[in-house]
Amino acid sequence: MPNLAHGRPYLAIPGPSTIPERVLQAMNRGAPNIYAGALHDMVAGLWPDLKALAGTTGDVAVYIGNGHALWEAANTNLFSRGEKALVLASGLFGHGWANSARGLGVEVALLDFGPAPMDLDRVEDALRADRTREIRAVLMTQTDTASSVKNDVAAVRSVLDALGHPALLAVDCIATLGCDEYRMDDWGVDLTIAASQKGLMTPPGIGFLWMSPRAMAASESAGLRTPYWAVGPRARPTEFWQYFCGTAPTHHLFGLRAALDMIGEEGLPNVWARHHHLARAVWAAVEAWGRGNPEIRLNVADPACRGWSVTSVRMGAPHATRLRDWTETQAGVTLGIGLGMSEPGDPHGDGFLRIAHMGHVNAHMTLGALAVAEAGMQALDIPHGTGALEAAAAVIAS
Ligand SMILES: *Cc1c(COP(=O)(O)O)cnc(C)c1O
Repeated sequence: MPNLAHGRPYLAIPGPSTIPERVLQAMNRGAPNIYAGALHDMVAGLWPDLKALAGTTGDVAVYIGNGHALWEAANTNLFSRGEKALVLASGLFGHGWANSARGLGVEVALLDFGPAPMDLDRVEDALRADRTREIRAVLMTQTDTASSVKNDVAAVRSVLDALGHPALLAVDCIATLGCDEYRMDDWGVDLTIAASQKGLMTPPGIGFLWMSPRAMAASESAGLRTPYWAVGPRARPTEFWQYFCGTAPTHHLFGLRAALDMIGEEGLPNVWARHHHLARAVWAAVEAWGRGNPEIRLNVADPACRGWSVTSVRMGAPHATRLRDWTETQAGVTLGIGLGMSEPGDPHGDGFLRIAHMGHVNAHMTLGALAVAEAGMQALDIPHGTGALEAAAAVIAS
């Protein structure tokens, strides 16, 4: 067969996500003056939009860095050396945040749920057992991008409140902000982190830290805080340079401005609804494939616990890796690897793949990715049920 990958490729991995032309064009300019002019005038206007995006009237700070940098930003503003964190892990990324905390000298109690939703009873037990209230913060991930498990943030707040536990609640929204519903203040979250390259449709390189008034106050006594990571001057600068503790990430900020404009024009609830609808099309297709091959199934059984920006699919090793290779080299669609999803008998996660539906994605992109996956299964003789594309189209049409 001829190679059918030539044409505009589609990187359907959960970050970096597709960058809209409008964002690219906003970044296509020479170096701006950082002491006056367009950049200066534009930056203050980003702050209210970033707060609205997270659903908070609290503070926000911007860092030059990726998600790992924001884990560190969060940790340094939350803890002193030797203080305790309770970390909830539903896949890979909770472990990353825990490692960052441990590396800084925080004592970590890790509740590892595997690539599965959290067990709220275990969370409650761990907090109840903390009689002396030594846990300073609970760190959780809204959607784990490896397992595609989405955990209920408000439910964790309810547990803390029911026990009268004073721990701060901190949430990694890197995979969800601008994709999945998120309401920082309504859900009682004290600290939120996100990064530019996922729902915010901007190249990797800047990250965001939102703080409730309680978290802001607590950060002042956080012993791990250093001049570079301290949130205070970045969130409430008196000089322009303090926003970024040095030179601004100039082009990223112009790109971010365009991305926030796009989200604002579409309307955040509509952005969430689009992600949910595209996710449901993917779930319907995978379920149809699975009806002809029990090895193919969604990693997350309960729809309420599935993220809206990425879907992790079990296919059985080595089918997932073979299929990803085919879709990329033969059809121009790159699907996500089975990140951190090794199992006995599948040390490299060759039985998993991920389909992203994150950020600047519409129906034809998602239907295209599914159709290409279907073609790949046919080409590779991977057994699969029929009717997946009809099922996905029916969701799109509904
Ligand atoms: C992508 C991601 C990260 C890591 O971000 P990097 O920019 O790769 O450091 C952390 N947490 C979640 C939930 C993510 O999706």
